[in-house]
Amino acid sequence: MGARILVGQVKHETNTFSRLPTDLDSYARRLLVYGDDMFQRLAGTRTEIGGFLQAARRNGWTLVPTVAADATPSGKVTAAAWTELSGTIVDGLERAGKVDGVLLALHGAMVTEDQDDGEGDLLARIRARVGPDVPVIATLDLHANVTDAMASNANALIAYRTYPHVDHVERAEQAAALMQRTLAGEVRPVSAVARRATLDAVDHGRTHGDPKDAGPMDRILAEAARIEGEPGVLAVSVHAGFGWADIRDAGPSVAVAADGDRDRARSVAETLIDAVQKTQGQDTVERHSLAEAIAEARRRGDKPLVLADFTDNPGGGGYGDATRLLGAMIDAGLVDAALHAINDPDAVRAGQAAGTGAEVTLDLGGKIDPAYGAPLRVTGRVARLTDGSFVCDGPMHKGVRLSHGPTMVLAIGGIDVIVTSNRMQTTDLQAFLSQGIDPRRKSVLALKSSQHFRAAFAPIARKIMLADGGALCSPDYRRFAYRKLRRPIWPLDPA
Ligand SMILES: [Zn+2]
Repeated sequence: MGARILVGQVKHETNTFSRLPTDLDSYARRLLVYGDDMFQRLAGTRTEIGGFLQAARRNGWTLVPTVAADATPSGKVTAAAWTELSGTIVDGLERAGKVDGVLLALHGAMVTEDQDDGEGDLLARIRARVGPDVPVIATLDLHANVTDAMASNANALIAYRTYPHVDHVERAEQAAALMQRTLAGEVRPVSAVARRATLDAVDHGRTHGDPKDAGPMDRILAEAARIEGEPGVLAVSVHAGFGWADIRDAGPSVAVAADGDRDRARSVAETLIDAVQKTQGQDTVERHSLAEAIAEARRRGDKPLVLADFTDNPGGGGYGDATRLLGAMIDAGLVDAALHAINDPDAVRAGQAAGTGAEVTLDLGGKIDPAYGAPLRVTGRVARLTDGSFVCDGPMHKGVRLSHGPTMVLAIGGIDVIVTSNRMQTTDLQAFLSQGIDPRRKSVLALKSSQHFRAAFAPIARKIMLADGGALCSPDYRRFAYRKLRRPIWPLDPA
């Protein structure tokens, strides 16, 4: 009889400097499915659950479902949401009876109202329930802040090796293959993690794909792959960490699973983290002021100029309602331009009340935290109203249905502005196409993302510029008041 494997997914990248709490509604707006519905929803998609499903079919496993939950990065997960989500997995173990293994899809940078280390809490409770002999293997985001509790309670932690993240299925397959070898009694993975006094390294984890264009993370990942081929080493994961988290263990780390030998795992991790630390301060992208971005945007081209406001990236916990870039585009009188997106449910409701085709004047965006810019008074035409849902067809999350919530396209002069009810990073061409905007036909595309957009938008862009819109997700960590982070640490303290 095939093995019974309990499967769960609870993800969140928590920006503790965000004032937006993350509750169950925040999950429902992106992904919150229980029981067998998680398999219905995610089978065949470019996700970890999609990968677990195909591995289970091949290995003849029976998967025991619990919950699949993901929310756009934001502030701390509420205690109530954490009780519900973690409880669904831990209680699922109780209900399932005997299971042979546990496979989890986690992020690794979750902070809740009462747990600085959400994943460490979850893994410790699972370990307490299943005992020392049932293998527990988790996939992680490359931006995980990996703690000792996570490494000691999981047999292995398997992180993405791409940023933009496009290898969810491959990492799930890797985790499943290690699970199968463990169940067969071939190996007995145990893990350790190493960190250094740095908050930021390996170029934020950016990978370049093309070997001729290799950056710091590509070189470290190549070394990790080489070490992974050594006898007794089962998995080597390099994490860039997530710096906008005021917890003790934020920052880059290396987690290693070795065969039955935690000291070996630790020494391999300690060696590679030294190489990681040497990359601190290395940065392969150039960032531009809004004035520089607008000067470039005034030039027309046959393909779009992509302006990415990395500071308002909902994928890093940005509010997605910053308006400085849009304001500069309006002031410049840009035409043939589109922007994804301004998060402002009130503005969408005003557009719905006025109706398609109506001209409206409203105060757009800038409502969540005035520290990052005020609402922008705009007049435009309500060009389109939709329910905001679409299915991703790009390299990231292909096949996954996402929803902007009720959505309006507001045409302000020559700029089509997508105004949404849900916060969402711009990662897929369908974010525009589903709103009746062909991004390939625009001269300027403005979007909210710092790196993930490249997977879908680099192939259609004539040029990419990262534009500093002055919002929450500043890469200058010295702007934030850390209280719990271990000190001293680079770049906050003198070396
Ligand atoms: Zn990430």
